[in-house]
Amino acid sequence: MRDTVQKREILTFLRAKRQHYSAAQIYDAVRTKVPNLSLGTVYRNLGHLLEDGEIISVETSDKCVYYDGFIQDHAHFVCDGCKNIFDFPLKMDIASEVLDAGFSVESEKVVYYGKCKNCRDARI
Ligand SMILES: [Zn+2]
Ligand SMILES: [Zn+2]
Repeated sequence: MRDTVQKREILTFLRAKRQHYSAAQIYDAVRTKVPNLSLGTVYRNLGHLLEDGEIISVETSDKCVYYDGFIQDHAHFVCDGCKNIFDFPLKMDIASEVLDAGFSVESEKVVYYGKCKNCRDARI
């Protein structure tokens, strides 16, 4: 019972803005609304939300996980400089070899890693 309130608050927070948050950031924000929230509970609920397909996750190149409440298919660009995560439209370009082999694709996850324009410009 307790978990449902926490899960709903976490989901509401993630859906409120088109942003990507770490578990610690989610914990800090949702804690103001749900007293007695623990970081462990946040992780457990994020796991459930991922399983249910209510949210998606993106991993940075240094293995930090960020959570995203915007679940329509989209590609991510993770900047190795400022660590910002950017949303881009996903081009559903399934390799013909996959389809030729008789597989049916149900989801696709595209993450680009590199430097955003600001970080490239800042580097002299
Ligand atoms: Zn950057
Ligand atoms: Zn995203």
